[in-house]
Amino acid sequence: MTLTLAAVPRYYERTMLDIYTLGEEVLTEKAKPVKTFDSALALLVDAMFETMAEADGVGLAAPQVGVSERLFVIDVRDGKRWVFINPEIIATSEECVTAEEGCLSIPGVFSEVTRAARVTVQALNVKGRPFTVEAEGLFARAIQHELDHLNGVLFIDRLDKDEHDRAVQAFNRRNRKRRTRA
Ligand SMILES: [Zn+2]
Repeated sequence: MTLTLAAVPRYYERTMLDIYTLGEEVLTEKAKPVKTFDSALALLVDAMFETMAEADGVGLAAPQVGVSERLFVIDVRDGKRWVFINPEIIATSEECVTAEEGCLSIPGVFSEVTRAARVTVQALNVKGRPFTVEAEGLFARAIQHELDHLNGVLFIDRLDKDEHDRAVQAFNRRNRKRRTRA
């Protein structure tokens, strides 16, 4: 099921959102640009921050909560809460960094992923005003990971085939166990 922003006011009376996991179609779709900057969008963003904090994540993209629109939130615990709407990477460092990554939509699975060390991003804030930010470290990694979500790409899609298959198997094993317990 894909939610539209029109459904937001009713849906977000609950501030905790369901996180969609591997296998849900919305995670493989290319999300659509946000066109309306209204109170429903602000509510969605607040609910995404709450959901992300509760799940102990550093980033959360709208498709992960079933909304196929181009926005994500990031909080790498440096005291700043970032909202990126309709983001574009306008510059990427040649230097790359390999580090372990996980995803709230693939719980329990972690793999080393190589990404650009630094990126410059242009985006809109929740009021629709443009900004540009240069990011490095975990912030740069989180931006690239979340932007992938807006294009229907998961971090395991960036692994080689064997590693990708192992990650899917690990997720399925874990999921089966959880279902049996439930
Ligand atoms: Zn993710």
